[in-house]
Amino acid sequence: MSATPPTPPTSPTAAELTARTREFLAAHPPADTDRATFLRARFDAGLAWVHYPEGLGGLAASRTLQAVVDAELEAAGAPDNDPRRIGIGLGMAAPTILAYGTEEQKQRFLRPLWVGEEVWCQLFSEPGAGSDLAALGTRAVRDGDTWVVDGQKVWTSSAHTARWAILIARTDPDLPKHQGITYFLCDMTDPGVEVRPLRQITGEAEFNEVFLTGVRIPDSHRLGAVGQGWEVARTTLMNERVSIGGMRIPREGGMIAPVAAAWRARPELRTHALHDRLLTLWTEAEVARLAAERLRQQLAAGRPGPEGSGMKLTFARLNQEISGLEVELLAEEGLLYGDWTMRRPELVDFTGRDAGYRYLRAKGNSIEGGTSEVLLNIVAERVLGLPSEPRDDKDLPWKDLAR
Ligand SMILES: Cc1cc2nc3c(=O)[nH]c(=O)nc-3n(C[C@H](O)[C@H](O)[C@H](O)COP(=O)(O)OP(=O)(O)OC[C@H]3O[C@@H](n4cnc5c(N)ncnc54)[C@H](O)[C@@H]3O)c2cc1C
Repeated sequence: MSATPPTPPTSPTAAELTARTREFLAAHPPADTDRATFLRARFDAGLAWVHYPEGLGGLAASRTLQAVVDAELEAAGAPDNDPRRIGIGLGMAAPTILAYGTEEQKQRFLRPLWVGEEVWCQLFSEPGAGSDLAALGTRAVRDGDTWVVDGQKVWTSSAHTARWAILIARTDPDLPKHQGITYFLCDMTDPGVEVRPLRQITGEAEFNEVFLTGVRIPDSHRLGAVGQGWEVARTTLMNERVSIGGMRIPREGGMIAPVAAAWRARPELRTHALHDRLLTLWTEAEVARLAAERLRQQLAAGRPGPEGSGMKLTFARLNQEISGLEVELLAEEGLLYGDWTMRRPELVDFTGRDAGYRYLRAKGNSIEGGTSEVLLNIVAERVLGLPSEPRDDKDLPWKDLAR
């Protein structure tokens, strides 16, 4: 007797998703349901990220259909999971856990991550390894069922609010740099994890240095195989660039919004030269917005590609140019910067702050998530197919690299 092949699950249609969301809302009226209960139930109903598998917050639907669900929920005044506060978890940890995690890891981590009960941070950059991330020196040494981790990470956004971290560490110094790395999920409350604030150009300390001293990570919190860390990290990095460069913003939203608003409301500030620049940047912002939309649709069809690097590059350049124009437009007023108290914010707030803050914070856009210079290399090599940079350290054991 020949076995019948299993029928592949069929993706729900937009109409089915609308009906399902309305049923869900009827069973959990936002006005009478507390926020956490609502969000947990939404995850369990598969309406969190519809393209994830069933049982993990999704319905194996097309990613583009998330907009259908979101529109229904928004119209009903449903609470959201504060995606900006949990951006690293949503944008980077989750897709990596989905791609490389064991069933147990997916069940343990994805729900509290999406609901926002557990904030994540990214322990990648080190004092001696930022752009050349594969050169990292934080060590993880196996001791039975655990790994003992020692090293220092830097520029770690949200480490002060994070419960978990995605961490890459060197597990074999005898192998070439890309091969001896392993990827872990690190409990930030474990003994040996010390988080110290780093004050930024804005005065705030949204990122930190993190010292890891004899931190014990169970082997069950390893993501992917031993030595597979670079491959796993590349999934995180590609998703990071898409999540930074591919954010959904409305027309005339983002950085261009306050400049356009000031232009309309304050005719005394206008000059012909600024008018030309504003129009050019407005158009570029609109083109970038539409290109990001296309990237999202392309993503719906598969995994993020190197094109995300192009979007991240554009987003960084535009943010800096637009915030520079805003400071010029506002003249002396644009230079005022009222609050130098060192605060440890939970998120970057581009819209609720003044022009001076936006101008200073935008400087970091071309560094965080990979510098613009490095992203240009990626676009040159992987999108345009140009010859790669000379890499004479690719085959040497990491321990023999010049430092
Ligand atoms: C606001 C902010 C938040 C951040 N959050 C996090 C976080 O949460 N977690 C985390 O792990 N990291 C984080 N980072 C770190 C960030 O990813 C690194 O700063 C970045 O990758 C650059 O590394 P680096 O600072 O070591 O600079 P370097 O790599 O030392 O670079 C110095 C300069 O040399 C250039 N350069 C280096 N290599 C090349 C090359 N091959 N070709 C051309 N030019 C090159 C760079 O572009 C740069 O201009 C954050 C950074 C910022 C600014």
